[in-house]
Amino acid sequence: MNDKRTPVIAGNWKMNLGPSDARAFCIELRARLGDLRGRRVILFPPFVSLPVVADELERTSIEFGGQNLYWEGKGAFTGETSPLFLRELGCSTVLVGHSERRHVFGEKDQECGRKVRAALDAGLVPVLCCGEKLEDREAGDTFQVVRLQLKYGLGKVKAEEAFLVAYEPVWAIGTGRTATPEQAQEVHALIRAWLGEKFGDEAKERIPVLYGGSVKPDNVDELMARPDIDGVLVGGASLKVDSFERLVRFQA
Ligand code: PEP
Repeated sequence: MNDKRTPVIAGNWKMNLGPSDARAFCIELRARLGDLRGRRVILFPPFVSLPVVADELERTSIEFGGQNLYWEGKGAFTGETSPLFLRELGCSTVLVGHSERRHVFGEKDQECGRKVRAALDAGLVPVLCCGEKLEDREAGDTFQVVRLQLKYGLGKVKAEEAFLVAYEPVWAIGTGRTATPEQAQEVHALIRAWLGEKFGDEAKERIPVLYGGSVKPDNVDELMARPDIDGVLVGGASLKVDSFERLVRFQA
C-alpha cells in the first residue's frame, strides 16, 4: 500500500450468497465495521442479491457493484444486465473481465473494452480484471498477456476518468495457490508503469491496482505491505463475515 491511495478491500461473491444469505451477511458486516475509516470496502454480490444489499447498506460507506454488465443500455439482450440498471440500484462500481468471465464464458479483450466504456458512460467505476494463465507464466509471457488485456480493456478510457485494475493470475484464483508478495508486486509495478505511459503521472499515482487470487486472512498483511498493492479482490474468503472483516482490518 501507499499513503496516496486509500486501500480497497473487495469481496467477489461469485454465484454465492443469494438474497437471504446476502441480507444476513450485510447486517452483520455493517454492525462489525461501524464507521470504519481509511479503507474502501466493496461487495460484488450476484445480480439477484443486489437489491437486498443496496437496502441493507444504505447510509453506510460500504460500496457494492455488479459482477458483470452488458455494453448496451437496454434492448433485446436476453439474460444481460444494463449498466443503467446497476446505477439505478445504487451500484458505484462493476467488475469487468473477471477471469471466470474470460475463461468459463469466453469473454474477449475487445468486449472488456466496450464494457469498461459503457460502465464509465453510465457513471460506474469499472474494475478491469487481468491476469495470466499458468502456461503464460511458465512461458515467461506474463506481462505480455497482461499488457494486451490492459491495452484493449482500457483502450477507450480517458486519463482523468476513475477506474481500478485488479491483477488476478488465473492459476491463483480459487486454487489456494497465492502469488508470493514478490510475484504480485513485480506485476503490479509493471501495471503501474504501463498506466503511467498510457495515462500520465497523475493517473499512475491515483489508480488503485488490486491483487486477487486466494487471498486469505493469513496472507493479506504481507501482500498489503507491498508498495504497489493497493487492495485485494477476494472470492472464497469474502463469503464469511469473520474472514472478510479480518481482511478489511489488515495490518501492513
Ligand atoms: C476472485 O474471485 O476474484 C478470486 C480472487 O477468488 P479467490 O479469492 O477465491 O481466489
